[in-house]
Amino acid sequence: MRIGVIAIQGNVEEHVNAIQRALDRTCRQGEVIKIKHKGLVPTCDALIIPGGESTTLGRLMEKEGISSEIKNAANEGVPIMGTCAGLVLLAKRGDELVKKTGQSLLSIMDIAVNRNAFGRQKESFETLIDFKGFDSPFNAVFIRAPSITWVGKDVEILSEYKGVIIAARQKNMLSLAFHPELTDDPRIHNYFLKMME
Ligand code: GLN
Repeated sequence: MRIGVIAIQGNVEEHVNAIQRALDRTCRQGEVIKIKHKGLVPTCDALIIPGGESTTLGRLMEKEGISSEIKNAANEGVPIMGTCAGLVLLAKRGDELVKKTGQSLLSIMDIAVNRNAFGRQKESFETLIDFKGFDSPFNAVFIRAPSITWVGKDVEILSEYKGVIIAARQKNMLSLAFHPELTDDPRIHNYFLKMME
């Protein structure tokens, strides 16, 4: 199996390492590649869109021709995980800020987002959260994190924090408001690998 991490901007290395660790720990054979240009997305069995700055990331992905490839992959059922800015990009509906900046989203998941729900950089924090199916809490790192403000009927809510949705899944798509690649706990990356089975 081949897993592609969109490597244009943001927490790329951390995701590459985390997914590689998850592959090793579960004795799966797999290759992790970094995607900077068009042409590689169609060769991948799973994709990760990291955190960063969703306006910049979205614009560059579009310019490189990667956005349309991701949309096709999503339609074909390829598992896609978006974390933080990646979550924003997966969403079908943005907030006022998205409208104001004219930011283009991939619009592939039936969720609406609040881009900076958890404040700006200085308001970054970590906290223990409950995650559906996990038998103990997960230490989640939030950095200028978005939230999910609405979900469609096919979307399963996986985690809420203080009554706000922070993780959800719709078939082959997984979106997280926090950064599982910044902690050593492999459970979210393992969960994502299981989505490929
Ligand atoms: N809120 C940021 C954005 O919309 C994302 C922050 C992050 O990925 N750490 O771009």
